[in-house]
Amino acid sequence: MTLTDEKLAPIFADLVNRNQGEVEFHQALNEVLSSLGRVIGKHPDYAEKGLIERICEPERQIMFRVPWVDDAGQVQINRGFRVEFNSALGPFKGGLRFHPSVTLGIVKFLGFEQVFKNALTGMPIGGGKGGADFDPKGRSEMEVMRFCQSYMTELYRHIGEYTDVPAGDIGVGQREIGFMFGQYKRITNRYESGVLTGKGLTWGGSRVRKEATGYGAVYFIREMLKSRGEDFAGKRVVVSGSGNVAIYAMEKAAEFGGKVVACSDSDGVIYDEGGIDLELLKEIKEVRRGRVEKYVALRGNGAHFVKNGCIWDAECDIAIPAATQNELTGRDARALVKNGVVAVGEGANMPCTPEAVRVFMDANILFGPGKATNAGGVATSALEMQQNASRDSWTFEKTEDRLAAIMIAIHDRCASTADEYGLPGNYVAGANIAGFLRVAEAMDALGVV
Ligand code: NDP
Repeated sequence: MTLTDEKLAPIFADLVNRNQGEVEFHQALNEVLSSLGRVIGKHPDYAEKGLIERICEPERQIMFRVPWVDDAGQVQINRGFRVEFNSALGPFKGGLRFHPSVTLGIVKFLGFEQVFKNALTGMPIGGGKGGADFDPKGRSEMEVMRFCQSYMTELYRHIGEYTDVPAGDIGVGQREIGFMFGQYKRITNRYESGVLTGKGLTWGGSRVRKEATGYGAVYFIREMLKSRGEDFAGKRVVVSGSGNVAIYAMEKAAEFGGKVVACSDSDGVIYDEGGIDLELLKEIKEVRRGRVEKYVALRGNGAHFVKNGCIWDAECDIAIPAATQNELTGRDARALVKNGVVAVGEGANMPCTPEAVRVFMDANILFGPGKATNAGGVATSALEMQQNASRDSWTFEKTEDRLAAIMIAIHDRCASTADEYGLPGNYVAGANIAGFLRVAEAMDALGVV
């Protein structure tokens, strides 16, 4: 990972040195800094005032012990994190990830991405991220509850509706948000709905929050397709993962006339040429919390499962990586291009490796980076905060209309910024530059703090 810009290269080298071993964080830094050369050309004062270095340094990093007792009576110890990255635009905002792969470096990469993503929504939210190296797989509901309660017993002192507002991410859905909200309420003796988003509808949640990231990604991809006079109708769609983002991306893609033919989990890939039956998939994943392989036996009629298969070898027009970081490599990107893919939208955070992104750009494939494409989740979280603040609850239609308008605006902001900086069609540069400019302007106005 090298940078050629003579002002930015030494900044990046210093960042790598100061954050040793945090390779995903380096990757995210590199991707953003690679887009900023032209910005510094136009705004040399931003470099002179140290704004680049400041935006790359989290405001606060919290790490803590999470002790809990499992069903066998054994004490378990996990590590909890919350990285409060940037609050120039509003309270820190971003999800919590519970997965054994979570480290400080992972949380920093996610928090850094979140700063730009949140800025792109145009809403008053800063960026942060958190989580723990807890593996919920195979754990009973009571174990998950005890873990969430212990996690919140430390986290509560750092968060608040005007301070830091966490949400879900991998391994954290409505159930976990419920356990954490319950513990927060108990410790603080406050019904502070706006402290967490992704809540259930009967206790302060927003309609469309569950669907928002996946739906939003498909709205964004639809706008990219429109720019070339195309749409979803009749297109073959492949979505990796089968979690929250993946399921609702598939649902909206199908609603727009696409045919979703494959999805996956970390065990393997299911293929269904008849189009994935989403009600069945939701029953398996959301209700039974089962593995994707179960789909084949229950669906019958030609669906099949390939253990450890590579989903990107499937022929498709539209690919939506919606599982995890660096899941789509240069090799995978070449396979997709060879098979005729026309658009790729990142539902997950940084799912495409830098090489894969280069392959797509070189082949002139429409490519939507995660910080723009998957911003619908956090945007709807901000709508949830609005509803909590006004003690209001909007209809599904009103909330989805707002989401759609936000995604169209994000698309247009990325496209017009790319045009303005002489890089038409480059949504990566457009997203990085537009996000950076909004945060940098606010940071500049707030002084050196
Ligand atoms: P979920 O936990 O609901 O689902 C994650 C899915 O990805 C599961 O199918 C999981 O399979 C698969 N997966 C996770 N890790 C791996 C891995 N290492 N290898 C292969 N498959 C894996 O998470 P979400 O849907 O919420 O999140 C998915 C992505 O979207 C993440 O990158 C997240 O940061 C991003 N995102 C989520 C938002 C949200 O609102 N939820 C908002 C914006 C971005 P398995 O069960 O086998 O692990």
